[in-house]
Amino acid sequence: MGYEITYCENCGEQNTMVINLLGVDRLVPCLCSCKREEIKKEKFEEHQKELERRMTTLIAQGLTDKEFLKNTFEKDNGSNMKVFNVCKKYVEKWEEMKRENIGILFYGDVGRGKTFYASCIANELFKNGVSVCITSFPKVINKLMNFTEESKLLVEKVKSQSLLVIDDFGVERETEFVLEQMFQIID
Ligand SMILES: [Zn+2]
Repeated sequence: MGYEITYCENCGEQNTMVINLLGVDRLVPCLCSCKREEIKKEKFEEHQKELERRMTTLIAQGLTDKEFLKNTFEKDNGSNMKVFNVCKKYVEKWEEMKRENIGILFYGDVGRGKTFYASCIANELFKNGVSVCITSFPKVINKLMNFTEESKLLVEKVKSQSLLVIDDFGVERETEFVLEQMFQIID
């Protein structure tokens, strides 16, 4: 039986194929590369929507400040290229960073851009489909000190993101209990 395999006008790959089903040849559709791309794109968009929903919840629950989301590498004023490049590289090598559990500790005086750079990394990765939470030490501590089921769940949520940014770490003097909890989250 002569079935005519068809080809996609766009990418030139075949978009139908002949398969033998119970002894009978049949012409069935198959995916050419543009169709595969389309499906991949749809999946990514779906995934992004889910990430945005999560982010909205984190904001609503007071665990992420909306202001952080405005920080992007494009807004960098170029005053600290060394740190800028390290941050860019961290994003580029994200898969490896995650696999090896490598984080970055920013330290220095107030106004040196620690929060800015940390949230730039988070926002860039977020755009690439990585789940992130940008929160601050006092915010998480407040939740931890509530001792409610709800706050426990919130902290679990913070922990479940692929990238966690904790701002203002070590600003407040904390009890041993609080520090222990915090280190558990970081772990
Ligand atoms: Zn095609």
